[in-house]
Amino acid sequence: MPACDRSLARSHCGPAPSPLDSAAVLIAIPLETAPREQRVALIPEIVAKLVKAGFQAAVETGAGLRAGHTDDAYRAAGAAVAGDFASCVAGADVVCKVREPSPAEIAAIREGALLLGLLGRGEDAAQIDRYRARRLGVFSLNAVPRISRAQKMDALSSMAACAGYKAVLIAASTSGKFFPLLMTAAGTVAPSRVLVLGAGVAGLQAIATARRLGAIVEAFDVRPAVKEEVQSLGAAFVEMQLGDAGVGAGGYAKELDEQKNEQIRQTIAARLPNTDVVISTASIPGRKAPLLVTAQAVATMKPGSVIVDLAADSGGNCALTQAGQSVVHAGVTIIGPLDVAATLPAHASQMYSRNEYELIIHLARDGKLNVDFTDEITRGSCLTYEGRAPSQLAPVGKNA
Ligand code: NAD
Repeated sequence: MPACDRSLARSHCGPAPSPLDSAAVLIAIPLETAPREQRVALIPEIVAKLVKAGFQAAVETGAGLRAGHTDDAYRAAGAAVAGDFASCVAGADVVCKVREPSPAEIAAIREGALLLGLLGRGEDAAQIDRYRARRLGVFSLNAVPRISRAQKMDALSSMAACAGYKAVLIAASTSGKFFPLLMTAAGTVAPSRVLVLGAGVAGLQAIATARRLGAIVEAFDVRPAVKEEVQSLGAAFVEMQLGDAGVGAGGYAKELDEQKNEQIRQTIAARLPNTDVVISTASIPGRKAPLLVTAQAVATMKPGSVIVDLAADSGGNCALTQAGQSVVHAGVTIIGPLDVAATLPAHASQMYSRNEYELIIHLARDGKLNVDFTDEITRGSCLTYEGRAPSQLAPVGKNA
């Protein structure tokens, strides 16, 4: 293991006793190893805030590099730098991740430690069993309730904003057309026409980005409440007279019946011959993404048109989407990118880091962990704690 600077963190690097207050909470920030992942859970600016608040930090060497942060920047923020995953997390009270740790990584985390990250909503039973076997306290930023008190922890919105922005850039760089209107000596170039499907956080950011590039934008969502937001960004709202049929609980959409889905598909299909770019973001929490664009409808688009399907990881809004791939059908390119926010590592890490910081602070009081299951955010975001399922957690405070 390369030599590491352990002047601040609790020592795992040698036999010398740590000069530190062993009661201080040690936060570990490992290097992300999932495919395509370039983000880091905590950037140096946030590490400095945590150290100032009485926490200690250890970062795995190179963890922040792809997001623009050197080991020296972490040292300057007060973190120790560890040479590998095992030495980074050894003795840590809180392990801060972006993506799920591998089974080997879970095995290296101290029994009973807290693990924070974009860790899903408990869909992967085998992974939950691994966490439980290690008695980890697992808190997922995917599962933080979207109540106004938790807005600062809303990593789903932060990452959706990154994805919506980047989807437009992917489309613009794939399309053979300018987005803006150009009037040149070589003639007038018409602006691109962009259709955004689903006007949640990602869709609204896609609309704003496509408008900034000068495209003519229209958008559709089953929730009529977003019409004003769409229009305020300079896009037209595609009306479908669905009433409140698609409005679910908590500001989310709900599944429509097949007749209404067919009505939506036909209305969208009628617009596609005049659309250069589709950015699709439509999704319903916990369900397969709604099918909005059929293969027949794609074939009516002009050759050279582009579809970027941000719903690719939940089945896709286009029938031809293949997750993680780019396919061409009748001259139309259909892109199903995965982990789009990870391709914007600097700002995605900055935003994610702030979200995770707020969750850490929420789970602590006066620099000490204080996991209180009477709290809605703590309960909602917990996947397992001390080997128990969230349903078995007594709503009483616990000091770690
Ligand atoms: P999402 O990713 O679940 O879905 C994206 C969009 O797809 C949504 O706008 C949804 O209405 C739309 N959609 C679903 N089915 C569709 C269909 N068949 N056709 C067209 N569009 C369809 O949503 P999101 O971006 O995570 O957020 C949705 C809403 O959640 C927000 O607009 C807001 O009201 C709420 N929200 C609240 C908070 C908060 O209070 N902290 C934070 C973020 C979002």
